[in-house]
Parts: sequence; C-alpha cells; structure tokens
Amino acid sequence: MSVREHIYDVLIVGGGLVGATLACALRGNGLRIAVIEANPLHAASQPSFDDRTVALSYGSRQILARLGLWSALAVRVEPIKTIHISDRGQFGVTRLRHDEEGVEALGYVAENRVLGEILYAELESAADIELFCPAEVVALESHQNQVEVQLQSAEQRLALSGRLLVAADGVSSRVRQMLQIAASRQDYGQCAVITNVRPEYNHNNTAYERFTDTGPLAFLPMTRSAGRQRCSVVWSVPTEQAASLMQLDDAAFLGALQQGFGYRLGCLQQLGKRQLYPLALVETTQLVRGRIVVVGNAAHSIHPVAGQGFNLALRDVALLAELLSEAADTGAAALLETYAGARQQDTQRVYRFTDTLVKVFSSHVSALAHARAAGLLAVDLLPPLKHALARQSMGLGGNLSHLGRQQSCQPASRRQP
Ligand SMILES: Cc1cc2nc3c(=O)[nH]c(=O)nc-3n(C[C@H](O)[C@H](O)[C@H](O)COP(=O)(O)OP(=O)(O)OC[C@H]3O[C@@H](n4cnc5c(N)ncnc54)[C@H](O)[C@@H]3O)c2cc1C
Repeated sequence: MSVREHIYDVLIVGGGLVGATLACALRGNGLRIAVIEANPLHAASQPSFDDRTVALSYGSRQILARLGLWSALAVRVEPIKTIHISDRGQFGVTRLRHDEEGVEALGYVAENRVLGEILYAELESAADIELFCPAEVVALESHQNQVEVQLQSAEQRLALSGRLLVAADGVSSRVRQMLQIAASRQDYGQCAVITNVRPEYNHNNTAYERFTDTGPLAFLPMTRSAGRQRCSVVWSVPTEQAASLMQLDDAAFLGALQQGFGYRLGCLQQLGKRQLYPLALVETTQLVRGRIVVVGNAAHSIHPVAGQGFNLALRDVALLAELLSEAADTGAAALLETYAGARQQDTQRVYRFTDTLVKVFSSHVSALAHARAAGLLAVDLLPPLKHALARQSMGLGGNLSHLGRQQSCQPASRRQP
C-alpha cells in the first residue's frame, strides 16, 4: 500500500454535487484539499451528475456567484420567473412572480450534468485540490489529531491522512456506516419518475408544481435544445404505480403524463429517458463525530417536492467553507460544533416545510383537499403569506452565512465583480 506522507487540511469523500461544490468553495484559501470520488465523472453509473435537473433558488445563485461558479453556469441555466402552484381537480391556484419579489428570477433550472462539467473544470484546474477519481474509501480510522483513510482504485491501495474528513458520499454513506452513525429513515412510499418533454406552447419561464391524486408533479422550464423548448418533469407517485409507469411505452406514458398535468402547455411531445428515484426523508443522527462532519445527502436526503435538497446543502457548504477558511485547525471540535449548531434551525425548517407539503398534498381525504385548495387561494390573495412562501422557495427563508449574504470567504483577488 502507498502512503501519502503529508496531512491534508480537508479530505472530502464523495465528489458529487455537494462534495465537488465544497472543494470549489475551499479553493484558493491556502488549504490542502483531497477529493475522493468513486465513479468517473462521465460514467453512466455517476449518481450525482445524471439526467436530472436541479432548481437552484435565488439564494443559491448568490452563493454560487461568491464561489466564482455562477458566470460559467449563468449562460447554461433557464431562469424561473413564475412559480405556478395548483391542485388537480380543485379551484385553488397560486402564482409567485419574480417582479413581485423584486428579483430577476425566483430561481434557475440547471442540468446536473452541466453542473458536473463546471465543477470538475474548476477542481481539475485548482492547484490546491488533489482529485482521486475513480477511487473508493474502503477503511477509515479516526484519531485525536487526524483521520486516516484507505482508498482503493483500479491500480493501487493508498493511505491518506487529514485534519478533517467531510463525508459527502450520498444517502447510503459508506463513511456513516463505517463509523456506525445511525440515520433515521421515513419512507414516503413514493418514487420520483423523472424525464424531459417538449411542450407544444412556450413555457414562458414558468415552473409548475401540480398536486395530483397520486402525488406532486413538477414541470420545470429548461434551456432550449436544437431551438426547441424543453421542460424537465419530476413526477412523484406511489411506489407500486411508479413501476407500472416505467413499463409503459413512450406514447402511453405521455398520455398518462398529459392526463396528470393537463393542457396548460398544450400537447406534450417527445419524451427523454425515464429514471426512477425512491423517496424518503433520511436524516443522520449525528452531523459531527470527532474530526468528521457529514454533509449533503449523507446528512439529509429529502423529498424533491419543493426542490430544496441541494439548495439546503449549498447553505451548509457556504457556512462550512467560511469557517474552514479561517481555521488554524480545520478539524477543531469547537469549529465543528459551531457549524452543527448554526445549521440546525434552517435544516429543521426545510424538513418541516417539505414534509408538510408531501403529507398535505398527497392526502385523499376530501376535507383536506378543500382546505389545501382554500390554502392556495388564501396564499394567492394575501401578499404577506405569498411573500413568505416566495422567500422560502428562493432559499432566503432563514439565516444565511456570510457567503449566502454575498460576502466572500475567498481572497479579494479571486472575488467576482
Ligand atoms: C428526483 C430528484 C430531483 C431533485 N431535484 C432537486 C431540485 O430541484 N433542487 C434541489 O435543491 N435539490 C434537488 N434534489 C436533491 C439533490 O439531487 C441532492 O441534494 C444532491 O444530489 C445531493 O448531492 P450529494 O453530493 O450530497 O450526494 P450524491 O449526489 O449522492 O453524491 C454522492 C457522491 O459520492 C460518491 N461516493 C459514494 N460512496 C463513495 C465512497 N465510498 N468513496 C468515494 N466516493 C463515494 C458517489 O459516486 C457520488 O458522486 C433532487 C433529488 C431527486 C432524487
């Protein structure tokens, strides 16, 4: 086994959306960083940078701008100018508009693959980041002053040590398992079927969130491809129904989708690849153990109904990067406790918001159906309520770290105008 003699300031296990973003957030701060990623970036098995899209909130745009990542992304995302929320078969509808909130857009739709390309271009060009990919963490030991890991790649077994280890290795986190950190799991009994469609009419930069009898159905505006409009679809349905939807041929699936969504965007045409994701609320019981901190899906995996998972993780990343950039010892207990304490409120709020949406809008009880229709109408008619919902959707509902508030933790020379 080969051994790296030097000690890294930060070892990041998992170079998916969250791990790769954290590495980018830490670059240029004089820290020595290692990113260990199990799957090659362009492999079909890469679980983070797949065919999905991610709705980035307005707050996430601010964070990405401060990290120097927005300018490359801005030309490859589609702005969300209106969010249209409706309940199939009920009268209540609410619309959140960018101009009412005084912002250029309420959010932006990015393709996960595009995010992967941009993040890895940065990682590969940063002198202070070493990328071990494909390589998997297979053993881990936590000591008082450092953490030691063993990596296995096709060619060799390698030992690395770090002052801090960040577990960003997804919902089934191997690091969490190796440390025997338990995670609670609440199964929603739903799966998300994702695909892309071409709508007949212009999407006009509107994101549709439609609550149907079977679960929430989202249509997100995407950038044009070959001059044609595209929408990304996330359809949450009970697990048993998801399997049958996956088996339908394209024409039958489009028919079912059309029935669920209606004709607001005209006839839906030309379907992309379909993929299935089981949905659960998974939460680690401990964010910090010794010199190890758990982030992203490894820490909390939530229902995609309100598109909050990565946005929440970005706020974690922003605060962690800010604390680490000023630290003498990146794995110091006080630093990690400050981080865990400061992220609690925002995380709990997002759990409650998401979980309530899933439960209320997946209910068949008719009194609840009328109440939620009345609720949507009330939100539409009451400006303060609407503003509060818009701010939550924009990722501005809670306390933001300095990075989230537009200040940079990077040296001035690296700041974006
Ligand atoms: C259908 C769907 C739609 C979504 N839409 C939105 C949205 O609109 N907005 C939003 O904010 N969020 C959304 N999310 C949530 C978002 O996808 C997640 O928050 C995000 O993927 C979490 O990224 P991650 O890096 O923590 O985990 P992952 O994406 O799971 O990445 C983990 C990485 O770790 C690597 N890895 C695993 N084990 C090891 C090991 N032992 N050694 C080394 N590497 C390892 C994996 O290869 C992978 O690259 C959605 C989720 C789903 C399922």
